[in-house]
Amino acid sequence: EGKLYICPTPIGNLEDITLRTLRILKEVDAIAAEDTRHTIRLLRHFDIQKFLISYHEHNEKTKSQYLIERLLQGENIALVSDAGMPGISDPGEILIKRCIEENINVEVLPGATAGIMGLVASGLDTRQFAFEGFLNREKKKRKERLEKIKDQDRTLVFYEAPHRIKDTLKDMIDILGNRRGVVARELTKKYEEFIRGNLQEIYDHFLESPPKGEMVLLCEGISSEEEELRQQEAYEELTIKQHIT
Ligand code: SAM
Repeated sequence: EGKLYICPTPIGNLEDITLRTLRILKEVDAIAAEDTRHTIRLLRHFDIQKFLISYHEHNEKTKSQYLIERLLQGENIALVSDAGMPGISDPGEILIKRCIEENINVEVLPGATAGIMGLVASGLDTRQFAFEGFLNREKKKRKERLEKIKDQDRTLVFYEAPHRIKDTLKDMIDILGNRRGVVARELTKKYEEFIRGNLQEIYDHFLESPPKGEMVLLCEGISSEEEELRQQEAYEELTIKQHIT
């Protein structure tokens, strides 16, 4: 049978595609792409012509089956998303799971991914971190998620859209507290920028210059002092409750 190649593509700067990714894209029988028009432009830039199959969020299940059949017939297939690493806040996971079930080889090629770049550049603790991807668009669910992770002592990494970043920052300040954070904007692009400060300062920055472009939002994990404080509060609450009952 054939092999599935997971091929990361640039997140802005086209020089960030690897030699190996280019070779695989040239050699495979077909490329499954999140947005075929987008991928055609990328391939044209590198002078590659290839049969494309659309594979996106809304047809992931049915198209996975179709791709599995082609792989079982011996075709080699590359999977790309619009930018960065497929499977990271992008389609891919379902197909990869299905391949593993069917004993089809999956080879992941290394390459650009915004969260890791943002983390390394942030200056926050990189020894332990949690990738959260996109928070839910619904305020209630977003807040529930933040409640769930507020006691984590690892650096938190989020993806966010510019028109939602202020609401998200506000919820984070409410629930996580005014921690240190970073917004990494337009990574690898001409206007790459890092906005550093505490979350309130970042929020205030966006009041003056409205958020634009692609961005990774990071904040530090809970500090040990804050953790102690929270435990103390929880303990006090418990003793009050016990006193009442
Ligand atoms: N698969 C991609 C990856 O590996 O990073 C992520 C895809 S996700 C649909 C798109 C989000 O990634 C954007 O909303 C933004 O949060 C982040 N992102 C992608 N490119 C970026 C860039 N050049 N600079 C900052 N953030 C970026």
